[in-house]
Amino acid sequence: MAKGHCLCGQLRFETSADPKWIAYCHCASCRRHTASPVACFVNVPLDSVHFSGELGSYASSEGVTRSFCATCGTPIAYQVSRRATEIDLYLNAFDNPEQFQPQLHVYTAERIPWFDVRDELPREI
Ligand SMILES: [Zn+2]
Ligand SMILES: [Zn+2]
Repeated sequence: MAKGHCLCGQLRFETSADPKWIAYCHCASCRRHTASPVACFVNVPLDSVHFSGELGSYASSEGVTRSFCATCGTPIAYQVSRRATEIDLYLNAFDNPEQFQPQLHVYTAERIPWFDVRDELPREI
């Protein structure tokens, strides 16, 4: 069981599943939503996640829902309609983010040029 929470602690979540994948996303939307040079997601089945507290949400593009703590705004998750049975939780919202090891990079074409990632993980898109 992996647990996480937002900055203020109002919103908590837990998942009983092992991640299907863990990835850095360099896309401009994720960078903006997190106000960071890169985001990192832990993908798990939607039905493995239990939330407590009030979750806010925003449809950032067609079929995409980004959710966050309704009180403090901490980004919590990404969902997309074409993967309706899954949810991508932000790695850094977990209590122990070190328990997850990123496996790949996606949307590297949108990477900020000075953000140098010197690892050998696969790149997609
Ligand atoms: Zn909060
Ligand atoms: Zn992204």
